[in-house]
Amino acid sequence: MTPATPLPLHPVPPRAALPVQPVASRAAQPRCAGPADVGAELAVLYRGPLASCNYDCPYCPFAKRVDPPELLRADRAALERFTGWVAATTDRRLSVLFTPWGEGLTRSWYRDAMVSLSHLPHVDRVVIQTNLAARVDWLADADRATAALWTTYHPGQVARDRFLARCARLSALGVRYSVGVVGLPAHLAEARALRTALPEAVYLWVNAADGHHYSAEEEAAWTALDPLFGWSVRAHPSLDRPCHAGETAISVAGDGTVRRCHFRPAPIGNLYDGSWRAALKPRACDAALCDCHIGYVHLKPLGLRDVFAGGVLERIPAAWPVGTAPGPAR
Ligand code: SF4
Ligand code: SF4
Repeated sequence: MTPATPLPLHPVPPRAALPVQPVASRAAQPRCAGPADVGAELAVLYRGPLASCNYDCPYCPFAKRVDPPELLRADRAALERFTGWVAATTDRRLSVLFTPWGEGLTRSWYRDAMVSLSHLPHVDRVVIQTNLAARVDWLADADRATAALWTTYHPGQVARDRFLARCARLSALGVRYSVGVVGLPAHLAEARALRTALPEAVYLWVNAADGHHYSAEEEAAWTALDPLFGWSVRAHPSLDRPCHAGETAISVAGDGTVRRCHFRPAPIGNLYDGSWRAALKPRACDAALCDCHIGYVHLKPLGLRDVFAGGVLERIPAAWPVGTAPGPAR
């Protein structure tokens, strides 16, 4: 596919039918001024050194990887530095998505960060990607209007009933969460059973499997489970197209290096020397394609921030279940 290829049609509600999220104007937000402050709202995707996981997914390079104690100490220190930055950066509204290479919630410092950040008045949302292996009762201490989970079910690593029990506990706690599956053919039966068992209010997303070509029949089968699968099944031409990444969304590494997104390697500043502020500006993408949800959700021509309004980071569409009014679970 080339950048000139028309974008495919996707079975999503028209933008005009989607609610507009109420966002406080910059003028209404304290200490938000200055020419470098392009937007008062900033989504921060954080990924520290942690690269270990308790699961053994065959499609993952971090499967059963063990981090040495010194790396874990470094990861904890980096995360604590980052949460300190979030707490101190009160001149704009922030949303945070933790995207560890491995599993974060088996580590106390990620749980603590989720809880502490959820209570900050200038933090709109704090989310972590997780396999949901760890218990979730600690979320009772979080502000559940702000804390949310992006969960993924990995058939073969955990029994479906055990995963569903975790989901039921999240629902009972009033935690907002999405559930996802990698769309491998071998996962289809499990994904169908999961969709049937999950409450209707819980959105099930499906990620197209890397390197797998989907026939029309396969795409239809997965789309029956996730009506937004069409966005995932083919990469999005992005070269020279405007993207929020580097303007109102950034990627942050453990040492504070700021990049536009996790997929473009060039640093644009650092969180801890303040250079990130001047770096934020409207930008076009310099890559041919964008094929990961946490990236292309910010690609402006796709309009996916409207589709996922209010749930961009935890990957929950605005109108989910379809036909209902959006709003975070309480
Ligand atoms: S749960 Fe996630 S990080 Fe862990 S092995 Fe599976 S895909 Fe990799
Ligand atoms: S389109 Fe994707 S790869 Fe390009 S800047 Fe945006 S998020 Fe990054």
